[in-house]
Amino acid sequence: MEFDIIVVGGGPAGVAAARAASEEGIKVLLVEKCGFLGGNLTSSLVGTIGGLFVRNQDTIDYAVGGIPRDCAETLKSRGLAYGPIPWEQTAVLPHAPWGVKKLFDEWIESAENVKLMLHTCLVGAELESGRIQNITLQRRNAQMKVSAKAFVDASGDGDLSFLCGAAMEDAPVQFPTLNFYMHNVNVVEALTAGLATLQTLIREAVETGEFDLPRAGGAVIPTMRPGEVIVAMGRVSIDGKPVDCTDPEQLTYAEMEGRKQAVLLAEFLKAKMPGFSEAYLSDTPCRIGIRSTRRISGLYRLTGEDVLGAADFDDGICRSAWPIELHLEGKDTVLEFPPPGKTYAVPYRSLLPNGIDNLIVAGRCLSATVEGQGSARVSATCMGMGEAAGVACAIAGKNNIGMADIDVRALRERLKERGAIL
Ligand SMILES: Cc1cc2nc3c(=O)[nH]c(=O)nc-3n(C[C@H](O)[C@H](O)[C@H](O)COP(=O)(O)OP(=O)(O)OC[C@H]3O[C@@H](n4cnc5c(N)ncnc54)[C@H](O)[C@@H]3O)c2cc1C
Repeated sequence: MEFDIIVVGGGPAGVAAARAASEEGIKVLLVEKCGFLGGNLTSSLVGTIGGLFVRNQDTIDYAVGGIPRDCAETLKSRGLAYGPIPWEQTAVLPHAPWGVKKLFDEWIESAENVKLMLHTCLVGAELESGRIQNITLQRRNAQMKVSAKAFVDASGDGDLSFLCGAAMEDAPVQFPTLNFYMHNVNVVEALTAGLATLQTLIREAVETGEFDLPRAGGAVIPTMRPGEVIVAMGRVSIDGKPVDCTDPEQLTYAEMEGRKQAVLLAEFLKAKMPGFSEAYLSDTPCRIGIRSTRRISGLYRLTGEDVLGAADFDDGICRSAWPIELHLEGKDTVLEFPPPGKTYAVPYRSLLPNGIDNLIVAGRCLSATVEGQGSARVSATCMGMGEAAGVACAIAGKNNIGMADIDVRALRERLKERGAIL
């Protein structure tokens, strides 16, 4: 099998990279260890697509175009997402995770020249003179080596970059959270009481100790299907510190602890929150949601100052108005927003590891400080990075050059032609 690029990871970043590369006319292998696509969006029920919008005084506008916007508009047209729902200086798009799972299947099935391998895990990489020669994939029935001209690390955890020996930053990590479904909720009653009531009830429970809640905040997100919400109120720690989800021992603990928290949180909501008295915990997702683990230490580190200063870069490849959102210590969440109505750019250099010619990353393992990643890690921004990575691979392949050597002006022009907002 011959491919121009191999994309590792079928989350929002990887799917966007594969789709964009195929639309640019190159041959793609997309590798995903789960049995479906979507990453955190589907496997961990994050519940809203963040990073899509910027809120101005009277309007809410898209901060991104291209693939993330197409994703949002298609889900809305199918009644599987609604919004934008204003949130501080931005807005979110709540959705039914099933809608994303199905849509990503459709994109990849209809894309030309994309081979999808589900249930396939990257386990090794061989390099020569600063270039990846091949990667090793573990499937149930075999191990195989595959090769390509360029590789996209969209694994979220930076697995490919790590296996290649790229310089990484892996601390501190953020708390993971196990979101879960509740059914038979009186959604109208819950929405009438509102998010403010929920926050007050959570704080009261934490202060009085009546319920030993893991977090002093959170949300319940209606999916628009009758009586169904996603509960996003957990936070898993070991000795008060966030779990390192690259360590299987710690991850095992996190999954089990996340489910215990789900039971407690459902009991709390039933007892306290209007609309939940007849509700029940209907299911937990196939894995806990991981906010951050490894990030590459690349040609540029996106910083918290870049986010808060609405930074612009000559090599910007997507934009966002999402705040720095940190789940790092104790029960509180830190939120710091860019100035009202403003967005920052993610530079192309943040996708490039040092010294590996044919590797690019996309998504939450980008090169960033803790604060920079705390903002850029949301789904729409990850899709924007993925789209840019896919187009960049096509440019590099056609010119037979390394990822750091492409003409970034040409990349930006092509992204704009594709509808991206830069
Ligand atoms: C609890 C929680 C709540 C969140 N809330 C929101 C929200 O409301 N809105 C929002 O927009 N974002 C939210 N996020 C963030 C967002 O969902 C993620 O950061 C985003 O999904 C990252 O996209 P990604 O493609 O970079 O990585 P991921 O979504 O993590 O996808 C990576 C994919 O790579 C695969 N993979 C990993 N390693 C390998 C390997 N070795 N071989 C093969 N495949 C591999 C994984 O299975 C996965 O499918 C939340 C995250 C969490 C954890």
